[in-house]
Amino acid sequence: RAKDDGKNTFHFYSADGNANSVSRLTLENSLRRALERNEFSLLYQAKLDLAEQNIIGAEALIRWHSAELGMVSPQDFIPVAEETGMIIEIGEWVLQQACRDACHWQEVAGRPIRVGVNISARQFREDSLYQAISNALEESGLTPNCLELEITESMIMQNAERASQMLQHFRNLGSYVLIDDFGTGYSSLGYLKHFPIDSLKIDRSFVRDIPQDSDDMAITQAIIAMAHSLKINVVAEGVETQAQLEFLRGQGCDQLQGYIFSRPLVVEDFVGLLRFDTARRAGRTYAAGLQL
Ligand code: C2E
Ligand code: MG
Ligand code: MG
Ligand code: MG
Repeated sequence: RAKDDGKNTFHFYSADGNANSVSRLTLENSLRRALERNEFSLLYQAKLDLAEQNIIGAEALIRWHSAELGMVSPQDFIPVAEETGMIIEIGEWVLQQACRDACHWQEVAGRPIRVGVNISARQFREDSLYQAISNALEESGLTPNCLELEITESMIMQNAERASQMLQHFRNLGSYVLIDDFGTGYSSLGYLKHFPIDSLKIDRSFVRDIPQDSDDMAITQAIIAMAHSLKINVVAEGVETQAQLEFLRGQGCDQLQGYIFSRPLVVEDFVGLLRFDTARRAGRTYAAGLQL
């Protein structure tokens, strides 16, 4: 877990367990070359429908394996990519790759499977975003209603009028909008009724301490009830335990994402999971060796 200690130094642990400490400049320089060196990849974490108990989509999560630095978490490099503007190009790559990967999922499952793409604040402010999205859809052939854009409350609040236009554009395109990390922003809830929002994702910090923390349970319950009365779907993120799952199901939460069902997977493994899930639903029995 990296922390900027205020002296422009980053500390993080790479996948091999080594503690790294690099200057901001080193990180920036490595990041600048990452795209051309093909150092980025995407993992996919399944989103599960709680009532149907099947996979309805997956969130694309970027990974950076740097030649010089090893694995660097998105929590560490996305902020740097934002500040330097590199996020625009990286974000376009994510959109293209995610749409390309997801266009096969529909055939595998025999039903629409959504891919969720995280959009950063800087991307959201650029006029080029709409074009990047429609390009990615067109080049890949992905049906627009299989694309879900994950944005945060603060992006909407920074410029509500502009956000309203952007979200309406996405809606017209046929894609969906999800509010990520819901409950962690400082915003009022009033905006929810003014914007074309399909889903909101309850932040992991509220899910983590269920069922020990009764305050978190009350907040989660209230978010679900409020969202449903506004006809907004609710996704819970970071679900790790059976107790959390049971509580969320009891409250009528629509979807879940978390280690309890699946970690983020390389695309081949996600497709394998989707295939297995689809066969299981169809009631076909599989040879044990084929099971994940
Ligand atoms: P996020 O969009 O809120 O993604 C959820 C994070 O929670 C992911 O971390 C995921 O791996 C992790 N997670 C999922 N289930 C569980 C669980 O059951 N337990 C625990 N402890 N963690 C879980 P990750 O992949 O490190 O991503 C961190 C953040 O980086 C994301 O938060 C998102 O804000 C950002 N990010 C990731 N990929 C992209 C991208 O392609 N573009 C942009 N702009 N941001 C990205
Ligand atoms: Mg997200
Ligand atoms: Mg989130
Ligand atoms: Mg989060």
